[in-house]
Amino acid sequence: MIEKLKRDGDLSDDELKILLASGERDAPLFAAADEVRRAVYGTDVYIRGLIEFTNHCKNDCLYCGIRRGNGLAERYRLTPDEILECAGQGYELGFRTFVLQGGEDQHYTDEMICEIISRIKKRHGDCAVTLSIGEKPKESYRAYWRAGADRYLLRHETADGAHYSKLHPASMSLDVRKRCLWDLKEIGFQVGSGFMVGSPHQTTENIVSDLRFLQELEPAMIGIGPFISHKDTPFRNFASGTAELTLRLVAILRLMFPYALIPATTALGTIAPDGRERGLAAGANVVMPNLSPVGVRKHYLLYDNKICTGDEAAECRKCLEAKVALAGYEIVVHRGDAKTHFSGGVAV
Ligand code: SAH
Repeated sequence: MIEKLKRDGDLSDDELKILLASGERDAPLFAAADEVRRAVYGTDVYIRGLIEFTNHCKNDCLYCGIRRGNGLAERYRLTPDEILECAGQGYELGFRTFVLQGGEDQHYTDEMICEIISRIKKRHGDCAVTLSIGEKPKESYRAYWRAGADRYLLRHETADGAHYSKLHPASMSLDVRKRCLWDLKEIGFQVGSGFMVGSPHQTTENIVSDLRFLQELEPAMIGIGPFISHKDTPFRNFASGTAELTLRLVAILRLMFPYALIPATTALGTIAPDGRERGLAAGANVVMPNLSPVGVRKHYLLYDNKICTGDEAAECRKCLEAKVALAGYEIVVHRGDAKTHFSGGVAV
């Protein structure tokens, strides 16, 4: 089955379910994923500097610690100057991609977001700017694109409408989420999507639907991480997802999408101390360390026990360098765009 997945980049729904169901085949699965990753990306690991610039949010996603309804979250916003300062520090540390992530915060108008993008691009012309600020009208996306943004991360969270409505308030819908993703693609963004592993009420069928949706969308980047419960959300009593299933999915994604950018996520590093290293060994090729000022890090808590909330950006960078090297890979200093089918074969 693994040979077939590696050769065809696909399996039937039933085969995928079998592969997902147990850890029996993990060793050959991870080895195959690593082989494909090395054929396409070598041992390179791309880094993205994550700037969590606001934890205000108008949404009330049931899983998320910065949901509007969480009255216990201490809210903050970074000013454009502070964001520029983070990017400047990141540049010195070798980052050539900056990810501006936040809650859906209406304080930041499109004009402000565009100004931040163009200031970063003007000062750091060799860098990519990625946005991760949720659902917006197509016109807003277009304005961000014109201002110079290169990429946009928006996880679909689950490709099953019924499951989507169990994770989100009635004001949100899978149709809108999908419309945003298609709008972003049409405008020209390199789009990243993905989902949480082990989110409440998730079934194996849901995961297969997620994989099928990703095949349809063909995103440049696919981010997955375990769901981790947050004590001040309605999902406080749900079990978190596991590192095992997340790693199995990272490997399956690598074999289905040889050219995709697949991060070893902070959530994976939170659920298991060596989670990110194991993610790299199972096919991941991106890490996204935090560049947010230390003073605000502990307030951007989407889930409990998040790692690295007390560290300086430079510390994180150094620590990660060592972890990545120990895992047998190498952090590289460049934008780290996705390779395409046209930039070389994947003959393994
Ligand atoms: N507001 C932006 C950024 C969201 S944070 C947006 O909506 O796109 C980025 C991702 O963190 C989310 O897409 C979600 O998949 C993940 N996340 C949120 N809460 C989480 C939790 N409790 N456990 C694990 N991942 C979570």
